[in-house]
Amino acid sequence: MAQFLPLTVTDVRPTTREAVVVTLQPDDPEAFAFTQGQYLTFRQEIDGTEIRRSYSICCGVGEGLQVGIKRVEGGAFSSWANDNLKPGMRLEAMPPSGRFFVPLGDAPRHYLAFAGGSGITPVLSLIRTTLAAEPQSRFTLVYANRAAATVMFREELEDLKNRHMGRFRVIHVLEHDGQEVPLFSGRVDGEKVAALFGGLIEPEGVDVAFICGPEPMMLAISEALRAAGLSEDQIRFELFKSDQPGRLPQRVVAALAEGAKGAEAKVTLDGVTRTLTVEPGQTVLEAGLAASMEVPFSCRAGVCSTCRCRVLEGEVEMAANYALEDDEVAKGYVLSCQSHVISERVVVSYDE
Ligand SMILES: Cc1cc2nc3c(=O)[nH]c(=O)nc-3n(C[C@H](O)[C@H](O)[C@H](O)COP(=O)(O)OP(=O)(O)OC[C@H]3O[C@@H](n4cnc5c(N)ncnc54)[C@H](O)[C@@H]3O)c2cc1C
Repeated sequence: MAQFLPLTVTDVRPTTREAVVVTLQPDDPEAFAFTQGQYLTFRQEIDGTEIRRSYSICCGVGEGLQVGIKRVEGGAFSSWANDNLKPGMRLEAMPPSGRFFVPLGDAPRHYLAFAGGSGITPVLSLIRTTLAAEPQSRFTLVYANRAAATVMFREELEDLKNRHMGRFRVIHVLEHDGQEVPLFSGRVDGEKVAALFGGLIEPEGVDVAFICGPEPMMLAISEALRAAGLSEDQIRFELFKSDQPGRLPQRVVAALAEGAKGAEAKVTLDGVTRTLTVEPGQTVLEAGLAASMEVPFSCRAGVCSTCRCRVLEGEVEMAANYALEDDEVAKGYVLSCQSHVISERVVVSYDE
């Protein structure tokens, strides 16, 4: 399950001065079958350190395998990828993962998406797949960028508009490059969304809204969408990073103060069950790694869901959760990188 599989880079091309689109050919294509909006987690040794990072698939289902990587100033993996990736190079990634999608159907639907900067990557996959698979559906994209020069996939979006006349609309909002219409300038925040709903977009007709971008933008937009009448399950998020570090649950803090002894954990991975000790203050993921188990992980910040497992017995509390939906939490799924054991004993499985 925590398996990394080999892929060959077949093409690398810039989409802006600070981002590349990487085309990949997996050795085992079946293992990399994906649903629109999912991501890949790569593993790479850079300057002697193993780095794991997730990148969303930007192509549509049935269109091969591509990811878009935007350079983060001083960022380890994104800088390495932008500077070094060349056709013929070999990479390692885990099979696709993530739940940033809704099942496709036959009914005509109006989808709305808000993307900020590199947040366009999974949204592009959603747009391409949906427009191809649901011929009666429409997609409206509100795409926020700092300036015209940083707009990723500009040509692809124009092509999609031409190919799906009347079914795909893109509204560019630029923070710095002044545009003639004030609505299209500045930041995409709650006020901007309310203004868009006042004229360009009719919120009543929206079936599902997707949001992927910086955390403050996501929070402001989701609040505006709820104020416009959309329900919780009509709004889907994907977060790339969180500005807020997780906080140790109060019950863990109290237990540590009392000199907690740790807990016993039975952990199942790939059909094998091991019994380990989760030391005081340790997460379930850290305990698994300390016991040399190949437990899956990537961001270690509660943002991706690579380390998801299910609690079958006992109780854990998460310090942060930016990835799991309420219904998954209700079924006992947790992010093991954020999970502290509250009970004396816990049984968890990565195979569920
Ligand atoms: C589910 C998921 C999907 C993702 N999909 C994509 C994608 O399609 N394309 C893409 O370009 N990125 C994507 N990311 C973000 C990506 O995984 C990395 O976090 C990002 O590329 C930075 O990694 P790095 O090693 O270059 O920087 P690091 O060495 O990790 O960080 C360097 C500095 O930059 C800050 N930083 C980290 N991430 C970001 C960020 N995203 N924006 C601004 N500052 C940041 C850190 O706080 C740190 O100060 C995704 C993340 C997740 C969790």
